[in-house]
Amino acid sequence: MTVPMGVEEEFHIVDVETRMLVARAREVLDRLPDRGFTTEFLQSVVESNSGVHASLDALRTDLVRSRRALDDAAAPLGLAVVAAGTAPLGRMGAVDVTPQPRYQHMADEYRAVADEQLICGAQFHVDVPDRDTAVRAMCVVSPWLPTLLALSASSPFWLGADTGYASWRTMLWQRWPTSGPVGCFGSAAAYDAAVTGLIRSGVISDVGMVYYDIRPSAHQPTLELRVCDACPRVETVVLLAGLFRALVADACEVVRRSDGCRHHSRQPWLRAMTWRAARSGLDGRLIDPATGQARPAGAVVRSLLARLRPTLEEFGDWETVSGLAEEALGLGDVAQRLRRVAADGGMTSAVDFLVTRTRAHPVATGPRARIDRRGLSARCRQNQAARLAAHRSGALPRRATRATAADRQPFAAGCDPMTATVLRPAPRRRSNGR
Ligand SMILES: [Zn+2]
Repeated sequence: MTVPMGVEEEFHIVDVETRMLVARAREVLDRLPDRGFTTEFLQSVVESNSGVHASLDALRTDLVRSRRALDDAAAPLGLAVVAAGTAPLGRMGAVDVTPQPRYQHMADEYRAVADEQLICGAQFHVDVPDRDTAVRAMCVVSPWLPTLLALSASSPFWLGADTGYASWRTMLWQRWPTSGPVGCFGSAAAYDAAVTGLIRSGVISDVGMVYYDIRPSAHQPTLELRVCDACPRVETVVLLAGLFRALVADACEVVRRSDGCRHHSRQPWLRAMTWRAARSGLDGRLIDPATGQARPAGAVVRSLLARLRPTLEEFGDWETVSGLAEEALGLGDVAQRLRRVAADGGMTSAVDFLVTRTRAHPVATGPRARIDRRGLSARCRQNQAARLAAHRSGALPRRATRATAADRQPFAAGCDPMTATVLRPAPRRRSNGR
C-alpha cells in the first residue's frame, strides 16, 4: 500500500552574531530557486515545500536537501535558519509584514494577534480517496493530534523568556478566530458551507485563513495536519509524517465502514487535550484519547504506536516509525532539551542548538563560542553526550512507561469513547460528551 504525502516546513531567520530573529526572508529567497521555497506572512520566515513522496526515506532525502539549500543561501548573508515553533530571541516590532495586499489586510485587521505571529510550524499533507472522506476522517484523527503536537513541541521560549510551556506557539496560534480543533462535519459540502459562512461574516477573508489543527485541502483530496511546531531535527518530521499518514489511512478505513459520526459536544475536550500537550509536551502527562484519562506522555505515544502498528507495517514504516518514536521518548521533547542547553549556556546557546539541529549536516567538533558553520559549542556537546550516556546506562530515569496490553487493542468496534465514530452494525448512539 502506498499513500502519497508531502511536508511544508517553516523556518525562522536569525542573525548568527546576535542570534535575534530578523526580517530578511527576501534576501534568503533571492538566493534560492522559486520552486520549493516561498515567503510567509512575516519577513522573518521562509517556507520550504517538499515534493510528493510515497516513502519516508524519499521524504527525508528531500527535506535534508531543502535544509542544506536554505543553509547555503543564508550563511553568506550572516544568517541561519531555525526550525522550531518559536525562535528563543526576538523583539516585537522588529519584523515586517510581507508586502502583499492579503498580508497587509491581515496585519490591519488582526492587529496584535498578527504582530505576534513570530511562529513556525510544520504542515503534513496526506492523500485521501475524496474530499468527503477527508472531512469525515479528520474527525476520527482529531483526538490524536495533541499527541503529535507533544512530539513536536519546540517552543518554550518567547522573546527571550521561558513561558513554562513546551509549545508556546500553540498558545499564540489559538488566538486566531478560526484556529484550534476542527468541528464535526458529515460531508465536504457541510464543511465548505461552514467555511463560506465564516468568509461571508467577514471574520476571515478567504479559505486560506482556516487555521484549524487539521483541514481538508480546498481543491485536492488531501488532509493537512497543522497542529505541530516546526521541528529542528529532520528525524522528528519523518516520525510525524509516518504517524500522520498511518492515522489518516486508518481513519479512512473507519469512515468507509461507518455510517457517520456525531461529535457535537467534543470541542471542549479537544481544546483541553491540546492545552495539556502544549503545556508539558513529552515531559508530563497527555490525555489518552482511548480513555479520556491523563497518562504519562510516553504511554500515550506507545498506545498510538500500538494502534497504528498494522497500518505502519503495511506501509513498511513500522521499524522506522517505532524506532524514531522510541528515540524521541528517550531524548525528550526539544523544549526540555532547549531548557537544559539554556541553563548551561544561556539563551544564545539555545539558538545555536536549534541552528545546528536544523542544518541537517554532520557537525564537526571543536570549541566555538558563537554560531558558525560548526554550530553548537563544545561545552554543550559534552554536556549532551554526558546526559545521553547517563540515560543509556540507566542513571537517568526514562520519562515514559511501557505499553500495556490495553494499548495494543486495535481501533475499537462499536462506539469508541473518544472517537465516537459509529461503526456498522453497532446501533446508533449519541456521543457521550467527549
Ligand atoms: Zn465527527
